[in-house]
Amino acid sequence: MVDKEIKTEIDKDIKKPSRLKGWLYGSVTDRDIFWVAVIMAVVAAFAMAILPVLEKMGIHNHCVFYETTGYFCPGCGGTRAAYAFIKGKFLLSFIYHPIVPYGFILGGLYILSHILEMIHVPHIKGMKFREVYVWIGLAIILINWIVKNVILLLYFR
Ligand SMILES: [Zn+2]
Repeated sequence: MVDKEIKTEIDKDIKKPSRLKGWLYGSVTDRDIFWVAVIMAVVAAFAMAILPVLEKMGIHNHCVFYETTGYFCPGCGGTRAAYAFIKGKFLLSFIYHPIVPYGFILGGLYILSHILEMIHVPHIKGMKFREVYVWIGLAIILINWIVKNVILLLYFR
């Protein structure tokens, strides 16, 4: 009898969505982060749809940091990388800016896994958010930024 009660408690615990706590997000669930990821994906898709239109209108997407300093900013190459990625040119996308394939793949898997869980696909659980994903992302941005500017300085100046 007691064993059964304990088991029910454990089951309830397992079914509870995990509640995350951290410097980055206060206290949110994996599902909350899913919605944030969806909003980010929609904004990114909208930006990618509108940029070629603006380009045709003569409004160019340029980098103020690069124009003023002559060096790449941490985000330089991101737009080109995003277009390369959706065209299936994954290596080119990685070279333009590795954060883009990283974000597309990680974010895509995160969103997909939560959708599959929401529509009750058996054995599929929505991915759990881990702070290390953010640290890896920041490391990629920093390393890319340093490497690109060193190459620029050594071979193109
Ligand atoms: Zn830039």
